[in-house]
Amino acid sequence: MIVDLRSDTVTRPTRGMHEAMMSAEVGDDVFGEDPSVKALEEKCARKLGMDAAIFCPSGTMTNQIGIKILTQPYDEVICYKGSHIYKYEGGGVAGNSLASVRLLDGDRGRLSVKDVADNLNNSHDVHQPFTSVVSLENTVVREAGSYYYLKDIALISEFARLKGLKMHLDGARFFNALTETGDSPADYGKYFDSISICLSKGLGAPVGSVLVCKKELEVKARRIRKVFGGGMRQAGFLAAAGVYALDNHIDRLQEDHIRARELGSVLKNRNWVKSIMPVDTNIVIFSIIDRITPDQVLAKLGAHDIKAIKFGDHEIRLVTHLDFDDRMLEKTIDVINKLSF
Ligand SMILES: *Cc1c(COP(=O)(O)O)cnc(C)c1O
Repeated sequence: MIVDLRSDTVTRPTRGMHEAMMSAEVGDDVFGEDPSVKALEEKCARKLGMDAAIFCPSGTMTNQIGIKILTQPYDEVICYKGSHIYKYEGGGVAGNSLASVRLLDGDRGRLSVKDVADNLNNSHDVHQPFTSVVSLENTVVREAGSYYYLKDIALISEFARLKGLKMHLDGARFFNALTETGDSPADYGKYFDSISICLSKGLGAPVGSVLVCKKELEVKARRIRKVFGGGMRQAGFLAAAGVYALDNHIDRLQEDHIRARELGSVLKNRNWVKSIMPVDTNIVIFSIIDRITPDQVLAKLGAHDIKAIKFGDHEIRLVTHLDFDDRMLEKTIDVINKLSF
């Protein structure tokens, strides 16, 4: 039995998802003729309380389109310093939007109104880049899946609006956050101009992300998607997997969180583990004692067919997901308890 905890992207379609994909009605989506893509887009827009949505191949693309439709060249984007849009998208904000980033620490990656207020440039000073967007990430992947409550987002958004700033949300693990907060997805739309959600993470679809945005931004977003090479043809097979995931895989996310917490509590007691970040959702990040390396730990886990990834010089990350069940959890706990260095 192989246990793959490297990422929540490693899942395979379930039988039900497979059937939904195989029976999808499709058409050429570049001509706007794929009914399954349209159904997914309408469902996402409605679910998040916004009026437009665009299906894309990846979360990197939905983030990059989101930032591009909200900025002009030379603008500045305020975000957490470890945010995906900055750290894991290959410099796309610079390359695609010709914008700079203002990198903040936040509280485990979560920004506050004060963070935004303190980093807002003076729009009348020609020396300073024009601050145009606040980009939040929920959950924060680099901070072991910490999450925002909507009431805190509302405060940031109200302040941003007052200052004429646009709001983008990288919601790659949006539903993981909501699983913990109980906030309603439909209440999110009013606080953002664009929201990116991933279907290929915890939701278990093989491919795809959706950019949900304001109606007036839709045409621009579709144009940028085409420019980025994201216009897909009979993409309905993939969109059907997304619809299935939204219908069937949101409620079960709490199982992933419970299993992640169990892994966290087992790791906490090992003498080769130095510290562990709070396990808030489905991501476990821990650091190991100085005299050993992540590669040594990964090799020992690997010898038992357990895969994890190095997440820094002295850190390791485990992510729970749809294809990690209780049998695998038991095996992993057993192996972790027996490891010694
Ligand atoms: C995975 C992820 C994305 C998008 O990644 P893709 O692999 O391009 O789909 C965006 N933001 C965060 C926080 C992520 O974890």
